[in-house]
Amino acid sequence: MIFKCKNCGGNAVYHPDKKKMWCPHCDSLDSEERLDSENMANCTNCGAPLEAVTEFTSALKCSHCGAYIILKDRVEGEKRPNLILPFEISKEKAVDILKQEFGRRILTPDSFLSYSTLECLEGSYVPFWLYDYRARVSYEGKATKVRVFRSGDYEVTETSHYQVSRKLNIDFEKIPVDASKRMADDIMDLMEPYEYKALQNFEEKYMSGFQGEVVNFSEAEEEERAKVRATKDSESLLNETIVGYTTCVPLHKEINLTKTKAHFALMPVWVYRYQFRGKEYLYHVNGQTGKVIGKTPTDKRKAWIYSGTVAVMAGMIWQSICWILGVF
Ligand SMILES: [Zn+2]
Ligand SMILES: [Zn+2]
Repeated sequence: MIFKCKNCGGNAVYHPDKKKMWCPHCDSLDSEERLDSENMANCTNCGAPLEAVTEFTSALKCSHCGAYIILKDRVEGEKRPNLILPFEISKEKAVDILKQEFGRRILTPDSFLSYSTLECLEGSYVPFWLYDYRARVSYEGKATKVRVFRSGDYEVTETSHYQVSRKLNIDFEKIPVDASKRMADDIMDLMEPYEYKALQNFEEKYMSGFQGEVVNFSEAEEEERAKVRATKDSESLLNETIVGYTTCVPLHKEINLTKTKAHFALMPVWVYRYQFRGKEYLYHVNGQTGKVIGKTPTDKRKAWIYSGTVAVMAGMIWQSICWILGVF
């Protein structure tokens, strides 16, 4: 499936700045029409074989004509996402963000921010499971409050004993867990937070112009990661209610979690793959907030030149001092 411009026949894409469908060929807005195709093996636009399709691909760029293809079978039925967070950061903005973040670093290799390498930046929708949970927390504990004060010639220590009892009902909404094998879990955890209020009901048009994947793991397979987070957050919320005591010993603590819903959502990420001296470095820019994850490689040659310059400068300064002192 592809979105084609009614005016010029070009491939219309979703534009994050304009928040509309846009034709990069004739600059028209909202002029797209959907052209469906059941064929997953060939490009809807030019017919070339789609070699990059994997078992999880749902949207990709045709390497032959550059059109963005959405695989119809992968966005229907059980594979259809419930929600999507449309890109808010355009490619131009993502490039600016990377330049700002890494441009000032003196040891960054020159090719890192060159036009030709930054052109390879790809917008990708990463599949996520978003879990809703209801937590029932019950807690019993023994606590003390100790007060020390003077009474005449005596120092008095007063210890008060308390029975601490708490019952909390907590509703968690949309705890995110990425469901992509390509994306490392720690990277996606660092990518957060996303502003989930901007989530939209899924529509194919938001995918045009980007890569996409179906979930690589089932809802049940990923649930444990969400449970761990819900448990940890429940404990933090519980601890916030037990304050002001000198000591507190828990006697009973129970956290019961019930999953109320799981949504399949697509989240926007700009991915920059940079090759330097035979090694690949990966950078990610959150497609909604612009948060950057990744460390630049250090060009050792530049480091040598730089330290060499410092040594020469230091030598020159030393020589100037000697001249001033009349040593030479
Ligand atoms: Zn057009
Ligand atoms: Zn094509």
